[in-house]
Amino acid sequence: LINTNDLIKDQCCDLTYKDINILNGKIRSKVHDLVNEDYFKHYQFQLDMECPFFECQSICFSPGCQLDLDVHSDSYNYDDNNGDIDNNQNLGNLNQDSFLDDLCFKDNNNSNDLENWCDLIDNKGVIIDISKNPERFTGYLPTPERNIWGMIYQNQLEGECKIEQEVFYDIISGFHSSVSTHLSNEYFNNETNNWEPNLNLFKFKVGNHSERISNIYFNYSILLKSIFKIYPYLQKYQLNQFAPSNDLILKKKIKSLINEFPNNYKIFDENLMFTSNLIKDEFKLKFKNVTRLMDCVTCDRCRLWGKIQSTGYATALKILFDDNNPKLLQNLQKIEIQSLFNTFDRLTKSIESIQKFNELDNNLEDIN
Ligand code: FAD
Repeated sequence: LINTNDLIKDQCCDLTYKDINILNGKIRSKVHDLVNEDYFKHYQFQLDMECPFFECQSICFSPGCQLDLDVHSDSYNYDDNNGDIDNNQNLGNLNQDSFLDDLCFKDNNNSNDLENWCDLIDNKGVIIDISKNPERFTGYLPTPERNIWGMIYQNQLEGECKIEQEVFYDIISGFHSSVSTHLSNEYFNNETNNWEPNLNLFKFKVGNHSERISNIYFNYSILLKSIFKIYPYLQKYQLNQFAPSNDLILKKKIKSLINEFPNNYKIFDENLMFTSNLIKDEFKLKFKNVTRLMDCVTCDRCRLWGKIQSTGYATALKILFDDNNPKLLQNLQKIEIQSLFNTFDRLTKSIESIQKFNELDNNLEDIN
């Protein structure tokens, strides 16, 4: 369905699908290795986060939704305290049908904060080892009236801003496709009692819809560009304040990754967007709603990965579109840096899985 020599998106990306496939082959193991460092895998997460939009009546009891809370750090204390924003807000039970409209421009503590593209929790929650809680099939099946993806798709930009509307939709759809790819790739097969790829599920959710595949590649190019752009700032960050030797290791690994990035392409041209600040502010508020909706996901493991990735995209957007304010980029919080790289890891894994599913499909076709 997709010609790999095509550009991922006309106008704003000069990368083809093939370029990304080749790049991904070179960097996938480096990214995976990086996010398995304690700094990236020990992630602060609020277990008892409340949905700010409505009362969540059902909790997911599927064993797949539960989290392994055991954290072990080998050599150093990874805990740190950056900033002190209080985000423990509860907006109460809004009218279910209009909650998104109400919330978008509601005057609450954080919607006025136009520096961030998401709500950042700080000094709250427990530290979770995300490598022990892989993103995979959980059995979480939202009811139609509480389908968070559906609610996210309702939360679109309005008015005459075609490019921004398209980019907003594509980012969400690419995020959704990536989650669907992981849950199809690591699917629990009740017959064999094994975790294994489920080709039919992948085709149903992602593979049969070329635009969903395309949106994963689009998100990849956005993350690629944002990591490229934040790199000079990262070199000046003290990533691990408690272990200078580990700080050096992390920076070396990031450098080795960046060295593989293409520098002769227009990876993603962010200057095409936001000719007006009003559109940018609306985009920011709507994206913040997406990150808040993650707290309405009643499956803990899904919520963890939803939070990581929505925060990762929010951080990428901040890096791409707030570069006129270097102070913001100099002061990213640890959770933003962790989320950014872990989201990129998810996308590199998605591209790898898509290629494996393609091979599996071709092999089956050959047999038949
Ligand atoms: P859904 O995937 O819920 O999609 C709803 C509708 O959206 C579809 O019917 C289709 O019309 C449309 N749609 C589907 N994909 C796209 C796309 N890419 N772009 C545009 N439109 C689309 N389940 C797990 O097993 N493991 C997880 O880790 C996990 N994490 C989740 C994280 C979040 C934030 C959320 C909201 C859900 C998560 N889930 C997870 C649940 C999973 O995503 C599905 O909701 C669930 O499997 C039910 O799938 P479905 O086929 O009913 O449609």
